[in-house]
Amino acid sequence: MATRKRSVARSLDEYKRKRDFEKTAEPEGGSDSRRRKRGLRFVVQKHAASHLHFDFRLELDGVMKSWAVPKGPSYDPAARRLAMEVEDHPIEYNTFEGTIPKGQYGGGTVMLWDRGTYEPEGGGGEDALREGYERGDLKIVLNGKRLKGGWVLVRMRRPGERAQWLLIKHRDAYAHPTFDVVAEVQTSVATGRTMEEIAGGRSRVWQSNRAAGDGRGAAVARKRNRASAAAHRRTAAPKRAKKKTTTRR
Ligand code: MN
Repeated sequence: MATRKRSVARSLDEYKRKRDFEKTAEPEGGSDSRRRKRGLRFVVQKHAASHLHFDFRLELDGVMKSWAVPKGPSYDPAARRLAMEVEDHPIEYNTFEGTIPKGQYGGGTVMLWDRGTYEPEGGGGEDALREGYERGDLKIVLNGKRLKGGWVLVRMRRPGERAQWLLIKHRDAYAHPTFDVVAEVQTSVATGRTMEEIAGGRSRVWQSNRAAGDGRGAAVARKRNRASAAAHRRTAAPKRAKKKTTTRR
């Protein structure tokens, strides 16, 4: 759809302006703006830039809406995690794990910390999400490996050009006041590697979509995914509590 393609391109202007694609292996974007039938994607990347933070990204209108969350997500419904909105990222960023060269924008190590699909909590598809995003009250359900259940992003104010939001866990069966998921889960959801292994690793920059040309990249990725799933079952999202709480925020 031409109109959609143009609006995606516009949406990625800032992303492209900030990066030199001759120097960074981050994706340039623009090759994956198709609508997907099976759920909208979300991804969380752990990013050791000048300050360690977690990049929380939600697919919407052909791009990944993005927030930098300094402390990362929390399963404690009482924890309100600051989430600073940043520029939209291309969908292809969802498979990016590796190192951004020093001196480049966001220079440092990027780990794929979680990924999966998400949906608006009350149904209504992408329209409901767009509405919630614009209203500054985005209630979502995450279906990831590490993050599950209901969450909300609430916009606070616009101090500069970027909005500050809060990321808060809903009180549901997955809520867990003492499970520190950010401390517990120290490995990539895609490759099982630690930050140190990614930083100094054999495959310094690994991108499943680009490596898929000869089919080998995708096979390696699948193999790694299976290995990582097995290795990290213990530290995955907490099991549903037996006693269900019905309190909502
Ligand atoms: Mn970042």
